[in-house]
Amino acid sequence: MSDCLFCKIIAGEIPSSKVYEDDVCFAFNDIAPQAPTHFLVVPKAHIGSVSEVDGSNSAVVAHIFEVIAKLAGEQGMESYRVVSNIGEQAGQSVFHLHFHVLSGRDMTWPPG
Ligand code: 5GP
Ligand code: ZN
Repeated sequence: MSDCLFCKIIAGEIPSSKVYEDDVCFAFNDIAPQAPTHFLVVPKAHIGSVSEVDGSNSAVVAHIFEVIAKLAGEQGMESYRVVSNIGEQAGQSVFHLHFHVLSGRDMTWPPG
């Protein structure tokens, strides 16, 4: 999608600190980290949010979770949180599906 920030990051039109890339997904460090480790994993194909996941694209989401588990293992992350915000009230500010991966500090539950 031409006016999407994360599509531009995936295309390399906007620089990012890349963590991982394959044919399906791209991972990069969050520009405003909320924990010592905070990266985002996004599908390369534009999907607006979890609310647009269906039978046509759910394999992409399954793959992303495999990648998250692999990266967490490689980085020695024993405890971490995976978050996806859906809609403005929940805190979504970029409308390209992304999974926050946060680790390295104590976290509270429920979230604020
Ligand atoms: P959301 O608020 O939609 O759940 O998450 C969007 C995330 O994207 C935020 O944590 C924000 O810091 C991050 N973000 C926004 N703009 C940029 C950018 O230009 N580069 C990177 N690396 N992260 C960004
Ligand atoms: Zn996009």
